[in-house]
Amino acid sequence: MAAAGLPLEQRFNRSTPRTPSAGTAPHAPQSAMKVRFLPVAEPDLSTLEEGMVLSAVRSGWVSSLGEYIGRFEDEFAEFCGTRFAVSTCNGTASLHLSLVASGIGPGDEVIVPALTFVATAAAVRHAGAIPVFVDCEPAIGTMDPLAVEAAITGKTRAIVPVHLFGHPADMDPIGELAAKHGLIVIEDAAEAHGAAYKGRVAGSLGRAGCFSFYGNKIMTTGEGGMITSDDEAFVKRARLLRDHAMDSERRYWHAEVGFNYRLTNPQAAMGVAQLARFSEISDRRQNVLQNYRETVEEMRLPVALNPVRDWAVPTPWLVCAILEPEVDSALRGKILSRLREMGIDTRSYFVPLNQLPPYEDCRTVNASGGPVLGETEYLASRGFNLPSSGALSKDDVRRVGSSLKKAITAP
Ligand SMILES: *Cc1c(COP(=O)(O)O)cnc(C)c1O
Repeated sequence: MAAAGLPLEQRFNRSTPRTPSAGTAPHAPQSAMKVRFLPVAEPDLSTLEEGMVLSAVRSGWVSSLGEYIGRFEDEFAEFCGTRFAVSTCNGTASLHLSLVASGIGPGDEVIVPALTFVATAAAVRHAGAIPVFVDCEPAIGTMDPLAVEAAITGKTRAIVPVHLFGHPADMDPIGELAAKHGLIVIEDAAEAHGAAYKGRVAGSLGRAGCFSFYGNKIMTTGEGGMITSDDEAFVKRARLLRDHAMDSERRYWHAEVGFNYRLTNPQAAMGVAQLARFSEISDRRQNVLQNYRETVEEMRLPVALNPVRDWAVPTPWLVCAILEPEVDSALRGKILSRLREMGIDTRSYFVPLNQLPPYEDCRTVNASGGPVLGETEYLASRGFNLPSSGALSKDDVRRVGSSLKKAITAP
């Protein structure tokens, strides 16, 4: 975690803003003062999280029983507009459990985007199934429904759209394809808590919605995850498998092999507090992104920022910058290392998963049915993420902007 080195009180968003000298000796002379390092992500925590976690710890219920677990599940289901929510130990476990509880296994093909975090495909492999990688839509980078249609075979069982960087995928055509071919839709909403697609909330748009609460995500429980669903039989099965498949009537009776994918009560306590503060957390992120948009416009920086389609109300996760065509994509590495020298943390976009050794032999499909993932390659070679913490001030954002300008124009 980028913020792990900070004293505890500096990781909280308190009413007093952090001064530029935070982290340096209070009386250090100006010249010796180092510029503050701006990490890509920081958790947005307050005394509310502190108090609830403390109360969970003091209750003695520190494992996966305790008052906060059911409460977090109920409140998260309400937040997504689903009937049920099942907490898990992380986002990858949410995906794996959803696939297995849907009966997906060896021989089944599961369509996933190539441009996503590796966990989307790893979960398919853990289930014993075969990932098929599809190309993305231009700019927003989410799975292209035309590519999905071209990728469907007799072996296809499920589609896993990813709401990339907080922007929802185009779910209606994906849902129509799924209905037509009898496929299951499992949303990977790990990066999109609270994002909306045509007025419906991420996590309520398929059989199951899978969330992550890792420390750098929109909201966090340290590590943690959630599955949302309206399907009672699926939820029952997910709960059973999450808890070693132990029979609910007969202790230590396990009719099949299950997992331990449970969340703990102190983690759920942090989640309850994060959810109570969600609009504050989300507003801060929107505000930071808005400051970036103004900065990019004012400084005429040659990047496209977090493109948005008309069907979407994203919750910004990471600030995304895509180098405009006039900038040579080969310069990206240099630009990012110059930014690092100026104390600004960045990430390149994900490496397309079909290029990684465990997935090299997987099928790839674009919108015309061909194997070249042109849109994915374009974004993967030009995209990067900038500091995205909700705690960034307007001055911080302007500092990133002017540093980016220097980094791009330097010879
Ligand atoms: C973070 C992430 C995951 C995995 O979540 P963990 O909690 O880290 O296991 C899965 N999919 C996507 C798209 C993610 O960004």
